[in-house]
Amino acid sequence: MTDRHVPAWHNPVFIPGPTNMPEALRKAVDMPTMDHRSAAFPAILHPTLKMVRQVLGSETAEVFLFAGTGTLGWETAISNTLSPGDRVLACENGMFSRKWIDMCRRHGLEVEEIRVPWGEAIPAERMAEALAADRGHAIRAVLATHNETATGVRSDIAAIRAALDATGHPALLMVDGVSSIASMPFEMDGWGVDVAVTGSQKGFMLPAGLAVVGFSPKALALVEEARLPRTYYDIRDMRGAYPSGGYPYTPPLGLINGLKTACEMLLEEGLDNVFARHHRIAEGVRRAVRAWGLPLCAASPEIASDTVTAIRTLEGFDANRIVARAAEVYHVAFGAGLGDVAGRVFRIGHLGMMSEVMALSGLATAEMVMADLGLPITLGAGVAAAQDYWRRTLPEALRMAA
Ligand SMILES: *Cc1c(COP(=O)(O)O)cnc(C)c1O
Repeated sequence: MTDRHVPAWHNPVFIPGPTNMPEALRKAVDMPTMDHRSAAFPAILHPTLKMVRQVLGSETAEVFLFAGTGTLGWETAISNTLSPGDRVLACENGMFSRKWIDMCRRHGLEVEEIRVPWGEAIPAERMAEALAADRGHAIRAVLATHNETATGVRSDIAAIRAALDATGHPALLMVDGVSSIASMPFEMDGWGVDVAVTGSQKGFMLPAGLAVVGFSPKALALVEEARLPRTYYDIRDMRGAYPSGGYPYTPPLGLINGLKTACEMLLEEGLDNVFARHHRIAEGVRRAVRAWGLPLCAASPEIASDTVTAIRTLEGFDANRIVARAAEVYHVAFGAGLGDVAGRVFRIGHLGMMSEVMALSGLATAEMVMADLGLPITLGAGVAAAQDYWRRTLPEALRMAA
């Protein structure tokens, strides 16, 4: 064994979730056993629900927290609002949108699927056509993955809302914001999102374990008529229990306390500042990738995600080798390509607890790995491009006079 004994925990991770965890959040989830039927629990739960609603960009949504992950959030969204045989409109443009569509089929929903090559955003104009063609309003819900984590592509949810409005179509708009919420602008009310889904281990910087779901009043009004089977994640049970500070089952108290602290941190930084930080870091990473001469998986720069950058490698080169060598030799985790782009893409996650300084270490590591593997990389080229961008775009007051 030639291990250099570099403990992996010395390095940040560069996967698009779970993200690095701030020390304050690690402490916040580490709690002694508490009676969740005591008054101490609503003192944690109620402010948390209120702050999550703020992070979702809503004043009217009701927020539900389940022990689970984002995937359970998808299931909560569809099963509380739809019935067997209902038609939904969805677009597959990556692994996560594909999986949500698959879940719908397994629940007996009929999926009208728009397919685009992975790397493209959801084509709002094709959604508009499908909605316009649906004169009888058979489509009950439109499903959209805001940020396709597999390809590093952001879609325009406001444009999908506009497509619904232009045709006066009453379908619900359900949005997977798992890798965007709390890191990229998300406006549940502004975009007329009816169900917003996320989890604890991405923008909230916590361990995996919470599905976080927001329902608009319009979505809530459908819960009684929705006939898809559900018990554990029937939001009616949560709704009934929340006002009195109760939970229909044992809540993961440490995680909920962590979510409270995470929201406090995000709101203290200021959501606009959080979004600007992610954008700035992402832009530096994209400059580095350009300096490497490698293309983004995203079909165009305007749709590139601010939380994860998916990078295509040269034709015939197995991108998994980059991820494997980074892990084995440098103890750094990058994201592997998934599904249709497996072996052709590697991903740098840069969301949650992330700074320019941390990102530089990831870029520098990627360069060492690619040089090790014989790729035509000049050490420091990407790092320098990111440094240059970050120095030049510092706020005026922090820039040095030449
Ligand atoms: C991570 C992720 C999911 C899945 O969430 P889990 O918490 O792993 O169940 C769903 N959608 C997107 C866009 C994601 O990034």
